[in-house]
Amino acid sequence: MAHELPPLPYDYSALEPTIDAQTMKLHHDMHHAAYVKNLNAALEKHPNLHSKSAEDLLRDLSSVPEDIRGAVRNNGGGHVNHTMFWKIMKPQGGGEPAGKIAEAINKTFGSFKDFQAKFNDAGAKQFGSGWAWLAGKPNGEIQVISTPNQDNPISQGLFPIMGNDVWEHAYYLKYNNRRPEYLAAWWNVVNWDEVNRRYEAFKSAHEPAMAGK
Ligand code: MN
Repeated sequence: MAHELPPLPYDYSALEPTIDAQTMKLHHDMHHAAYVKNLNAALEKHPNLHSKSAEDLLRDLSSVPEDIRGAVRNNGGGHVNHTMFWKIMKPQGGGEPAGKIAEAINKTFGSFKDFQAKFNDAGAKQFGSGWAWLAGKPNGEIQVISTPNQDNPISQGLFPIMGNDVWEHAYYLKYNNRRPEYLAAWWNVVNWDEVNRRYEAFKSAHEPAMAGK
């Protein structure tokens, strides 16, 4: 089955003033749409892969035929990353995290502020295009990483809990070259309920193995 562009879960202008409507429209309707279209075009050469989810393809890129591996990595990554991105933002979002993700952040980084600083630093220092992530490790711990291009942590055996897009298309119209300013403002639209949901999904998938197992 062909992969489909999910609708934006709110209006283009809903994240104003943090993210302007024009950026949202171009980002969703043009950039994300192109990743979906190009992923489907690549998979036409290997129709047996149409039954796999984009996540499953990215989880084991070495099993993807070499002639489309790069296209799947870039466009499958673009599709999965943006599908998450729209959902982990919402109008009137932001504030302090609560629940299990707040506990994990405090335990791992000391405080929410320390986590934000580390995440923003990862985004600011990612050279060129890429993403900053909070990712879950197989041992149940969490860490901040960045990836280039549309690479998703899932391809490194990590679970993407939340990620911010630091491609210029995500911020340039409003913030120009001021990526750190975009990174700092982005926290105002984070949907912590959705981040918590993803964290819980990570924890249930990566419960540390029981002793003796
Ligand atoms: Mn993007």
